[in-house]
Amino acid sequence: MTFRADLHCHSNCSDGSDTPMELLEEAKRRGLQGLSITDHDTIDAYTPELLQKAEEVGIRLLPGIELSSELQGTTLHILGYGFDLHAVSLNHFLQGMQRRRAVRNRAILEKLSEKGMAIDEEELLSSAHKSVGRPHIAALMVQKGYVESPQKAFEFYLREGGACYVSGFKSSPEEVVLQIHEAGGMAVLAHPHFLKKRSLIQKALILKLDGIECYYANLSARDEAPWLKIAKERNLIATGGSDYHGKVKPTIQLGASWVDEETFNRLLSARSREKRETGDG
Ligand code: AMP
Ligand code: ZN
Ligand code: FE
Ligand code: FE
Repeated sequence: MTFRADLHCHSNCSDGSDTPMELLEEAKRRGLQGLSITDHDTIDAYTPELLQKAEEVGIRLLPGIELSSELQGTTLHILGYGFDLHAVSLNHFLQGMQRRRAVRNRAILEKLSEKGMAIDEEELLSSAHKSVGRPHIAALMVQKGYVESPQKAFEFYLREGGACYVSGFKSSPEEVVLQIHEAGGMAVLAHPHFLKKRSLIQKALILKLDGIECYYANLSARDEAPWLKIAKERNLIATGGSDYHGKVKPTIQLGASWVDEETFNRLLSARSREKRETGDG
């Protein structure tokens, strides 16, 4: 059987609908051999129970995260892989990120309330286990009948520059890359094709990246090609994954995009490789 690992998916620790355990089961059903759960700004999915379950069902699990950063007022997502889940600096950084998310969510709710769309903070917090953000707010806006779909919630209120948008919880991309490296991981530019401005892509590529996400969700080979070319030219690891969110994005299946065993192993051994290179044991 060909080895396939999906390196990008979300659990209900952020804005996916499946629990981390359910993601493992889904990976098994889809015939995947490897998986990385990359929740937004949290690694809470990686409990000892999950690691044990992964061993039991025979899925190789790669520690992963999708970190939010901001570059010139635009969100830039950076994936981290193969880091030490117990790294003190990273965990500290993530706690700060969650605190800033809470402040930002409150500010968004205030703006919505001013427009007659009240949402209770408690209710919002109960909608995710950990990393709460705009997708959860959008879902509640639909549930309460304020808008007809999450897309409309973003379009009219929550999108960058929208009437109820609040920025400010994100770090600089440099800081995010540094945090991943300090935790012994590899930093990968997520879904670069989302970056519409050339100048943003150029700026993003100046970062100290280890990889770039070339295979993504249902992207066609033709749309992957330019990113694979960049990966080759710049000696970056070409990574990929589905960005599966469960019921939240029903058109995308787990395993829609994936990487081979060699790529998986390179990312998994990030920590030991870095140690060898710097000689710091
Ligand atoms: P947050 O981290 O709270 O800023 O939320 C970011 C998430 O919101 C992204 O990962 C997307 O899943 C979702 N999102 C951002 N913009 C849109 C949009 N225009 N339509 C639908 N979902 C969006
Ligand atoms: Zn998401
Ligand atoms: Fe993303
Ligand atoms: Fe994602």
